[in-house]
Amino acid sequence: MTKCASCLNEARDLAQCSVCLKCFDFACGGITESGYRKLGDRKAAWKCPNCKNSSNLKQAPTPPLSVLEEKLSTVENKHKDAEDVDRRILILEDLIKQKDQNDRLNNAEFKGVLIKDSENLFEIVSKLGSSINLKNLKSELDLKKL
Ligand SMILES: [Zn+2]
Ligand SMILES: [Zn+2]
Repeated sequence: MTKCASCLNEARDLAQCSVCLKCFDFACGGITESGYRKLGDRKAAWKCPNCKNSSNLKQAPTPPLSVLEEKLSTVENKHKDAEDVDRRILILEDLIKQKDQNDRLNNAEFKGVLIKDSENLFEIVSKLGSSINLKNLKSELDLKKL
């Protein structure tokens, strides 16, 4: 006969905890006798209620609520930041489109005109200008021969 480590009652059969190695009767071990017998090989890994609780605590520590709230607000902030960036990208894209169009305001594109090796673009533009009464067309234009 051995004594239960918890209630100190003598018991015929006891369950031994694999962690603290104390022996408990089934009532104090939180397990039924038949339940303990069914464990078979797993008896060697059986834990008394105390050890079960403390190992659970170690395995899955529940962070305090304040920590969770902090994490949550960090996630929310990141989300907001991402939305902000999205918005800024849209605004930038708009600005780029506008700038692109502004840049082309001064562009005049002539298509279907044959290019001769000896031609002088400035001369052509001057002639064009004078024919539509723009004498200084040449100086007003930013010429790029493509
Ligand atoms: Zn007991
Ligand atoms: Zn134990």
